[in-house]
Amino acid sequence: MNYRHGYHAGNFADVLKHVALVELLRLLTAKDKKLFVLDTHAGAGGYDLEGGEALRTGEAATGIIRLCAAGRADMPAPVVRYLAAVAAYDRKFGRPRRQLGHYPGSPRLIRLALRAGDRFVACEFQPREALALKREFAGDRAVEVRQADGYQALKALLPPPERRGLMLIDPPFEAADEFERLLRALRHGLRRFATGCYAVWYPVKDTAATDFAGALAALALKQLTLELRLGGPVEPSGLAACALAVINPPWKFEQAMREALPWIAERLGHGVRAIVRAGSASAPVPAPEP
Ligand code: SAM
Repeated sequence: MNYRHGYHAGNFADVLKHVALVELLRLLTAKDKKLFVLDTHAGAGGYDLEGGEALRTGEAATGIIRLCAAGRADMPAPVVRYLAAVAAYDRKFGRPRRQLGHYPGSPRLIRLALRAGDRFVACEFQPREALALKREFAGDRAVEVRQADGYQALKALLPPPERRGLMLIDPPFEAADEFERLLRALRHGLRRFATGCYAVWYPVKDTAATDFAGALAALALKQLTLELRLGGPVEPSGLAACALAVINPPWKFEQAMREALPWIAERLGHGVRAIVRAGSASAPVPAPEP
């Protein structure tokens, strides 16, 4: 397995996942109670959009770069907050340039939202990515980086003593049995910590995604599924659509995503569509369009 998120940082899939993540964190930290956050597949933490990997695919150009160029007049508040978090990360690297130079991965977005007393564990399995992640947070005692299997961490760390938690599960889907492993780990996690909020990213490429969506629907009552579908040319990675399933979403999250996602889809252009599906009804994910 040699997945490197640097090739895909800031693409349309990251935009979907991260606008939702920033909003989930905002809503979950609004209560004056401690929060536990687990990023099971954390990646390197942050990405250089002018580095070799990002330039090789150019995927950010049709994702975050396009969104940054959009007018702000009618921008929904969740998008404003997401772009502010992205810009805050970029500013760490010096004076702002005309175009975004660095993009925050999920651990950076989580770190930005943490309050004193919250707890954050970021797991990354690949040694090279884990080393980059450790360097990203060197000296930062608010972030516990583990070079570890994120699925095992779901077993080991749940339920958290805080009794309030957000678990982001964002695997690379390189392995043929990733959907099965994910479902097993999620079932286990929900058995141990049924009230936790779980955000699960997955690619919508074939019937495996349809089966997965059906299995997810049977797992928990409260769910919201967010989806972005490309209308035009497919990314070099072959990804034409992706989804984020959120189990036990906080109050007001659905409303925020119903405002944000259609706006984002329109600004990404080229026929990109947003779908927000509530409830646990087993609405199958249609096969991707040819
Ligand atoms: N969540 C990151 C973000 O949004 O910025 C991106 C993560 S990337 C899609 C998936 C990562 O999972 C890769 O860096 C890969 O090395 C790592 N990975 C693969 N298998 C893993 C496992 N079993 N446990 C933890 N990390 C794993």
